[in-house]
Amino acid sequence: EPQIVWLRRDLRLTDQAALTSAAQAGPVIPVFILDDETPADRRMGGASRWWLHHALEALQSDLARHHSQLVIRRGNAVEELCKLAGETGAKTVHALRHYEPWWRRAHGKLKDRLDLQLHDGNYLLPPGTVTTGSGTPYKIFTPFKNATFDAIDGFDILPEPSLSSPDSWPDSLSLDDLDLLPTRPDWAGGLRDYWSGLHGTAAAIDRFDEFLEVIAGYSDDRNLPSVDATSRLSPHLHFGEVSPRMLWERIGRHTGQGARMFRAELVWRDYAANLVCQFPDYSEKPYRDGYDENFWRNPNRGHVIEEELQAWQQGRTGYPIVDAGMRQLWATGWMHNRVRMIAASFLVKHLLIDWRHGEEWFWDTLVDADYASNGTNWQWVSGTGVDSNMFVRIMAPLSQSEKFDAAGYIREWVPELADLDEPYIHDPPDHLRGDYAARLIGHREARERALQNYRAHKD
Ligand code: FAD
Repeated sequence: EPQIVWLRRDLRLTDQAALTSAAQAGPVIPVFILDDETPADRRMGGASRWWLHHALEALQSDLARHHSQLVIRRGNAVEELCKLAGETGAKTVHALRHYEPWWRRAHGKLKDRLDLQLHDGNYLLPPGTVTTGSGTPYKIFTPFKNATFDAIDGFDILPEPSLSSPDSWPDSLSLDDLDLLPTRPDWAGGLRDYWSGLHGTAAAIDRFDEFLEVIAGYSDDRNLPSVDATSRLSPHLHFGEVSPRMLWERIGRHTGQGARMFRAELVWRDYAANLVCQFPDYSEKPYRDGYDENFWRNPNRGHVIEEELQAWQQGRTGYPIVDAGMRQLWATGWMHNRVRMIAASFLVKHLLIDWRHGEEWFWDTLVDADYASNGTNWQWVSGTGVDSNMFVRIMAPLSQSEKFDAAGYIREWVPELADLDEPYIHDPPDHLRGDYAARLIGHREARERALQNYRAHKD
């Protein structure tokens, strides 16, 4: 009897427990369903769709090596899976677990109608299983990280299974039918250049091997946006072209500080999924009290604020490091982590705009947009989350820019400033700004306003 493998953001053949268990049970029908209905207003953003197209293309050619195919459908996933089961006589659906609240609800519905077998494998350890001595989940990162490190004793990575095909293949859409790539306007030119040739499992592993050559310097250099010192594997990890377990194992003989720090970053990804598992609306709502609509200068309160939000989105705030980051994001679908922190903090604290507007923009523009990681990091930057980071701790974009040596990065992404030397490039004086945007607000003034706002709402 044929076995359905429901692929979502786990688009790989190696370390894919759902595929392996299906292959042991019978002929395999791998299916991808583009479902814009179940996630409702969390349907995938534009940059993610662009990435998904290429990830699916790579998966198709990986499956072709096994004389298998990817069945492509579109619509409500639960309904489509039931239809596919009816067409093929399959009764069992194998899938990896995902923790977005809409998928958890869908799992419940599907279980009522078909034999759904869920497997682990998208995280280092299954979310919800790393707990304190008394069995409660962790809220704070550091103890969670320590417990995760303690619990891991290496991983057995599942090899690609051999796949047998069903007697006949069910109907499938073509990849182009999903319309994942932008046409008019085609805004993806920068993404194509930046990520050219970098899709699918094999490309991700090659990229990781390149990164391993410099992993020893990771703990020192990862904060420097001008240096290519991080793995840039986040979109591959998000779409599951590689699993974090595969990377953990592949680090192998690299045992220094850099390797440990990199593993800790992988644990951040697990941590975010654990928070969403514990608090299903964590990416939608401030965790702490007192940060509701009234706290913020929100765009629906006037068009000046709407214009400021747009200036931030388009990289015209007048703060070079912030603008460089926002332009890198728009052009490539990716932004350096340190700059994500600075740009996010600027929106929330300097402009006092609700983090959810920033989260939404990132959701649409990041190729690695991830429900759990995005929300968790926005709450962390904003000081509205579970941790002890506080709203009143206000990052100064200019000293951050100097401290992390961002001159080269600014020259690359803000060409209006390319001729300026240090220190001016971090904060150009008026007579050197030329065509470059004026500051939306001065740093001191912004800081004062944020602190006053905090006092007004906390008192
Ligand atoms: P590396 O430094 O090579 O790290 C390796 C991997 O570890 C990353 O690919 C990622 O999977 C994971 N990781 C690293 N840092 C974090 C972190 N802080 N939180 C969770 N996972 C982490 N990351 C996303 O994957 N998706 C998002 O939507 C996302 N939104 C963010 C929003 C804000 C405001 C901030 C400050 C950070 C966000 N991050 C998000 C986290 C981080 O910026 C990216 O994971 C990282 O920059 C990706 O680059 P890299 O692959 O080179 O990372």
